[in-house]
Amino acid sequence: MSRLVLTILITLFSAGALMAQPREPDWSQLEDETLRHFRALLQFDTSDPPGRERPAADYLKHVLEDEGIAVEMFALDDERPNVVARLKGSGAKEPLLIMAHTDVVNVDPDKWTFPPFSATLDGGYVYARGTVDDKDNVAASLMVMLELKRRGVELDRDVIFLAESGEEGNTTYGIEFMVNNHLPKIQAEFCLAEGGSVTRVGGRVEYASVQTVEKIPYAVELVATGVAGHGSRPLQTNSVVHLSKAVAAVADWRTPVRLNETTSMYFERLATISSPEAAERYRNVLDPDRVSESVEYFLEHEPRHASMLTSSLSPNIIDAGYRINIIPSDANATVDFRALPDEDIPAFLNEIRRVVDDPAVEVKLGKRNTRPAGEARLDTDAFRAIEAGIDEHYGVITLPTMSTGATDMAYLRDKGIQCYGIGPATDVEDGPKGFGAHSDQERILVSELHRFVRFKWDVVTELAAAK
Ligand SMILES: [Zn+2]
Repeated sequence: MSRLVLTILITLFSAGALMAQPREPDWSQLEDETLRHFRALLQFDTSDPPGRERPAADYLKHVLEDEGIAVEMFALDDERPNVVARLKGSGAKEPLLIMAHTDVVNVDPDKWTFPPFSATLDGGYVYARGTVDDKDNVAASLMVMLELKRRGVELDRDVIFLAESGEEGNTTYGIEFMVNNHLPKIQAEFCLAEGGSVTRVGGRVEYASVQTVEKIPYAVELVATGVAGHGSRPLQTNSVVHLSKAVAAVADWRTPVRLNETTSMYFERLATISSPEAAERYRNVLDPDRVSESVEYFLEHEPRHASMLTSSLSPNIIDAGYRINIIPSDANATVDFRALPDEDIPAFLNEIRRVVDDPAVEVKLGKRNTRPAGEARLDTDAFRAIEAGIDEHYGVITLPTMSTGATDMAYLRDKGIQCYGIGPATDVEDGPKGFGAHSDQERILVSELHRFVRFKWDVVTELAAAK
């Protein structure tokens, strides 16, 4: 062997060893297949309730098995299985879980231009329930699994695919069942799931949101008791009056502001891409002397931002009285209490009692399927990989976000899994037009589905491919 050949060989080998990323799949070749699987999944009516995720789960099982990927199904209810598949890595690192849910929220078919489970293609969009929540994530994860397997990508860690049921209606069939009964099947260092988004304004991508923490839902009951009597002789002890004052006091109370790692970075970064006026309001959030001005503004104009800063209380159900001429002896209100993840619940209830300041009104926790608290860190390889992927594919800033609503990631974070919520790009104008998640209709741009698959591939391979 000549020295020249030897040098070339050595150069080739070391170049191969240094390559961080496996060779890019030929994405234009894969777009038809992606769309075919996506539309097939959308055409199963998995409205939850009742769910009936079985046909979608069977479809995923067949597609994965046809590619030689072993699949396991785990079900509390036979019609509602969870699908798990694992590509083995060397074990050098802990696994990566890519998770999505196969059920969708209910539809009112009369509101739809195209039938909600037709997956009609029109004007560059696919229309169907589940297009952005969450069959986009199911299809993207499926394509990533298929390509990892086809290309024989060597992995430093296992990549686990989970298509869960019950996310929209009843987590006992989905994530709770998996976490409580089959945790070793999905245990991982990192998890990617729904809950994030890339926001387009006027057709231009402006920023990306990655969910890293969420508020915890509780119910608070306000129960007023008094003396029953004849409506013609008003009583000072009228339970409706006491309850009304308590509800008003709770609604007017400005709950304490508290930031965490995620919300601090969120407002800091949001300021860098906002108009000067808005930027000042976002920066003021970080200044204890000026934050209350921002809160007042947010309460009126940006309620989501107000809710991201405090534990919040929204009195949403009132149950009082039954006859015009009877003063009722009791009345109660149910308050939607969304706690900051680090909230001290008993202490917070005491604060509500202090604010209500009425011995005739009892304040207590009501029944609600609550969730454990947990926050994903921002200094991990996973967050860095997501940020880099967003920068490469969308060219915008990443905002770590705390969602005010609850997601299935809470159950996994409780088990020490660092979970990050991601999602494809959607037009901010689509929500008000009635095309968003949980809207009257739902749609996604086909081009954005494909971009999301490529982005997810890069994040997964950056985290899991052998280096
Ligand atoms: Zn969802």
